[in-house]
Amino acid sequence: MRLILLGPPGAGKGTQAQRIVEKYGIPQLSTGDMLRAAVQAGTEVGKRAKAVMDAGKLVSDEIVNAIVSERIDQPDCENGFILDGFPRTLVQADATEEMLRAKGLDLSVVIELKVDDAELVRRVAGRYSCAQCGSVYHDTDKRPVQEGVCDKCGSTHFKRRPDDNPETMTARLQVYYKETSPLIGYYHAKGKLRSVDGMADMDHVTQEVEAILSKL
Ligand code: ADP
Ligand code: ADP
Ligand code: ZN
Repeated sequence: MRLILLGPPGAGKGTQAQRIVEKYGIPQLSTGDMLRAAVQAGTEVGKRAKAVMDAGKLVSDEIVNAIVSERIDQPDCENGFILDGFPRTLVQADATEEMLRAKGLDLSVVIELKVDDAELVRRVAGRYSCAQCGSVYHDTDKRPVQEGVCDKCGSTHFKRRPDDNPETMTARLQVYYKETSPLIGYYHAKGKLRSVDGMADMDHVTQEVEAILSKL
């Protein structure tokens, strides 16, 4: 199963991807996570990406295409993978087609999560994650079972993303509508698009996603 999760920042792509990982055992390939890891590690790519990410703009197609192409060659991607936050431009979508064709693979489905802007801003403003394992939480909508302790790994250290602030979020939404939303029509035309109401609560969205995946 090879799928793409498509949607604006804060739509719930990472949250749903994590649940698909648990159920189907295929890896989540988040370009955002990979770029943040590169920034953290201080690599050449990380140095080039940092300012762009802090401004809410897109890292170059060339960089992200190369990262994904290399990543999907890893053995854990053999039975499939979830692309989370990639592709984000038409150039990246064409590159994805080409990468898959060259490797003799096909795309199973593209699931679009639809969420209103006001809700996206609210979600991103309340987002934080475990500093150790990366599990994602929300100030009101997804608190750890035991206050201050990560459900998954027990860590007591949490962090917030520097780009999850209202100003950068405005820029990220503009970039989404301009650069990424054309992918909805692109995949619709290929008969690959399924849209889900991402405004519903997390479990409900998961049910909708699973209904789509179970029919593949
Ligand atoms: P969100 O989960 O809020 O949608 P991501 O973690 O996917 O955000 O991305 C964070 C930032 O990383 C983006 O604003 C952008 O700067 C960069 N980035 C992530 N994926 C891509 C991509 N496919 N193309 C270009 N830039 C990307
Ligand atoms: P994305 O990867 O698309 O940027 P996330 O999965 O990181 O989005 O979710 C953004 C924030 O919203 C997180 O704090 C998450 O806990 C929360 N969240 C995710 N899905 C929902 C939902 N269906 N309802 C309410 N909050 C949600
Ligand atoms: Zn944790």
